[in-house]
Parts: sequence; structure tokens; C-alpha cells
Amino acid sequence: MPAQLIDGKAIAQSVRQSVLEEVQSMAAAGRRAPGLAVVQVGEDPASSVYVGSKRRACKELGIVSASHDLAADTPESTLLALIDSLNADPSVDGILVQLPLPAHIDPEKVIERIDPAKDVDGFHPYNIGRLTVRMPTLRPCTPWGVMRLLESTGQNIKGLDAVIVGASNIVGRPMALELLLAGATVTVTHRFTRDIAAHVGRADIVVAAAGKPGLVKGEWVKPGAIVIDVGINRLADGRLVGDVEFDAAAERAAFITPVPGGVGPMTIAMLMDNTLRARLARGD
Ligand code: NAD
Repeated sequence: MPAQLIDGKAIAQSVRQSVLEEVQSMAAAGRRAPGLAVVQVGEDPASSVYVGSKRRACKELGIVSASHDLAADTPESTLLALIDSLNADPSVDGILVQLPLPAHIDPEKVIERIDPAKDVDGFHPYNIGRLTVRMPTLRPCTPWGVMRLLESTGQNIKGLDAVIVGASNIVGRPMALELLLAGATVTVTHRFTRDIAAHVGRADIVVAAAGKPGLVKGEWVKPGAIVIDVGINRLADGRLVGDVEFDAAAERAAFITPVPGGVGPMTIAMLMDNTLRARLARGD
């Protein structure tokens, strides 16, 4: 395998370490620790795993996390009222509403209700707009984490051709904005794109985020490319795989992320970083 592995676990650990040090120095100065409210509606098993990891990360880093576990049939109005009270609560710096929400709740309405200054997921249209006009504030955690992984390769991103596979609001689109901000020439592909292989074939950076196991074939990858696999797919045999044919892609790429242990740990680390930033922005 000629490609160098990008060790997301280790890079995430270093982000977490710097958050921990900053939280500790706040404590030493007698300042209030950052507070994160974690809201889960229903008991989707994958969501419970993610929420559990986020709560554990908070505990490890000295961030105070408050859990709000609501029943799956909670009315939308009750969730919106909870968000209003968290927006008004001075001990809460960040609000995270775990997605997906049950079908009777409109996720866009919920995201828009969160105070943008407490939107540590970076999904609020205000924060996305700030990123669009090159004035980022709270940035979506997964794409922001991918940028840290790219930085770790030591490659200069300016002028590189970047191709993203997937155009969701939480990964593909903000990923495009981050790469554009970093000076890459960006192409976003999605389910209606005619020839994904051709786009991927000329990419210096490939970010796969479609949620389709093995969608990106190893033979498509341009020799020497950087391959970032955001996909997390559970196969019938229980294995966790990404969207990229890992072994074949690793034969051609210069750098590649594994699944698990690549992008996943970065998402949580950047959430912790965002919570700290939201706290520091309060200035008290
Ligand atoms: P989504 O379903 O909201 O969006 C998928 C996108 O991929 C859409 O834009 C769609 O057009 C595109 N797509 C689907 N099939 C395609 C195909 N055959 N060819 C080209 N494009 C196709 O998904 P999402 O929320 O963006 O998540 C994508 C993947 O990333 C999932 O596997 C998810 O689990 C994973 N994910 C991982 C992390 C992490 O921390 N590592 C964070 C978020 C999402």
C-alpha cells in the first residue's frame, strides 16, 4: 500500500488535548467551564452511540454536558420550546440537537431556532452564510475536521482540484465552502452527476460523503491524490466501511483516511473545539 494513512484518531486527540488545556486554564482563572446541551429525540441506536461519544468527550475535557432525552413522539412545539429555554440559559454555550429527528419534526425549523452563537454543529443558515462569505464563525464539524486532516498532510491546497462526492447540507456543501476558502478549485458531485468516475479521476483531493459503500472505485483515483472518506456504512456482516474501495484506492493515493479511525474522531473533536469557541466568544 503506497498511500500514507492519515491518522484521524491521533489528530483528533491533539485537538482534544488543546481544548482540555484551554478549559483547564479557564478553570485556573476561576472562569465558568463551557457548557453543552445535548438533545436527543427518540432512541435511534446509531444516534445513541454518537450522543454517548459526545457526552464522554465532554466529560474527559471538563466541558459540562446536560442531557435532554425526549421521547420519540415529543411534539415539535415542545422541542422548539426547549431550544428557546436553552438559548436563554446563560450556563449553556452550545446546543446540539442530534439528527436525524423523527419524521413529524422539521429539522430545518429546529436548526433555525437555535441561537447561531450556540450552534456548535455549525448548521444554522447564519453560520453557513458566514462561511460562504469567507467570514467563518462556528463551522460545521465534519468538514472543518476534514480540513485539519488535509492540513496534516503538509500539502499546499491552493490551486488543487478537489472533488466532493455528496452534496448534503451537513457534509458535502459546507465541505465545498471550506475547500473553496482554502483556495482549491472545487467540484461537487451528487446523485444526478453524469460521470462521477471522470470527475474523481482528475481530482487531487477526493472527499467521499455519499453514504454508499464502495461507491468510489480505487481505479478512479488519480495517482498521488489525497483521499478522504467521510462515509460510515455498516455492512450486513457487521463491518464498518466507508464510501471508497479502500485497498485499491490506497494503491494509487498518496494519502488516505481509514474507516473507522479517519474522519469520525475528528467530528467529535471539532464539536468540542466549537463548544470552547462558543464559550470564549461569550467573554464572561
Ligand atoms: P445524505 O444522505 O444526507 O447525503 C448523501 C449525498 O450523497 C447526497 O447529496 C446524494 O446526492 C449523494 N449521493 C447518494 N448516492 C450517490 C451516488 N450513487 N452517487 C453520487 N452521489 C450520491 O448523507 P450525509 O449525511 O451527507 O452523510 C454521508 C455519509 O457520511 C454517510 O455515510 C454518513 O454516515 C457519513 N457521515 C460521517 C460523518 C463522520 O463524522 N465521519 C459525519 C456525517 C456523516
